[in-house]
Amino acid sequence: MKFPIVAYGDPVLRRKATAIEPDEYPHIKELIENMFETMYAARGVGLAAPQIGISMRLFVVDASVFEDEDPSLKGFKKAFINAIILEESGEEWAFNEGCLSIPDIREDIYRKATVKLSYYDEDWKHHEESFSGLAARIIQHEYDHIEGKLFTDKLSPLRRRLIEKKLNDISKGVVEVEYKMKFPAAKKGR
Ligand code: ZN
Repeated sequence: MKFPIVAYGDPVLRRKATAIEPDEYPHIKELIENMFETMYAARGVGLAAPQIGISMRLFVVDASVFEDEDPSLKGFKKAFINAIILEESGEEWAFNEGCLSIPDIREDIYRKATVKLSYYDEDWKHHEESFSGLAARIIQHEYDHIEGKLFTDKLSPLRRRLIEKKLNDISKGVVEVEYKMKFPAAKKGR
């Protein structure tokens, strides 16, 4: 089942998501499957639960499309439950990021090279693991979502001002998208 993806401007994207307990969500695997399905349909490489309107600390990542650039990403498909960043290290580097909640906007964003995090997988197995390169990049972007942050927050005030109108349009649904979205400020019936 595919969910509509929540667009920029929806308050759920600004909420710090809450941690979940295994017995609270016995159907978490089904939700994770549906999140992957939603993400693939939108050609994304990561999707966080707030982006489908659910404020919980859960995100999914599939970085295997970057296999050519980085062979270690072959089959890199993971779900992250209750993730906590323990450490970020290394040099900051720029990558042209986009976001399924903010269609049509891509910006160079600087983040540190390596991220170490504690998380549970879809079988509730605990992991403490470090990621670098593009894997780290996607994880850091998705992690921001469960903290209520968006990549546009990292832009300079000037750069932000330049895309302000576009962001406003997105929240009103004035944007071409090839996947189903939910627009917070859209008129009824849209
Ligand atoms: Zn995003």
